[in-house]
Amino acid sequence: MIESHCTCGEPVLIEIGRKDVCRSDGKRPHYPESGPATTYFRCRKCSGWLADTCDAAKFGPSIHGEG
Ligand SMILES: [Zn+2]
Repeated sequence: MIESHCTCGEPVLIEIGRKDVCRSDGKRPHYPESGPATTYFRCRKCSGWLADTCDAAKFGPSIHGEG
């Protein structure tokens, strides 16, 4: 689990290596109060795209081995 934050200052947690989440790179940006299966794509505070506003949430290579 990576503790990070949005550019607006909102804390964001990034769980990595999850193969059952929406993102093919296995990253699950969420908040401490989020459920274990919840993936956030946008910041709940500023509505910014977390992949752009949060370094740790940047899209990485797929962990599913496609291609
Ligand atoms: Zn934000």
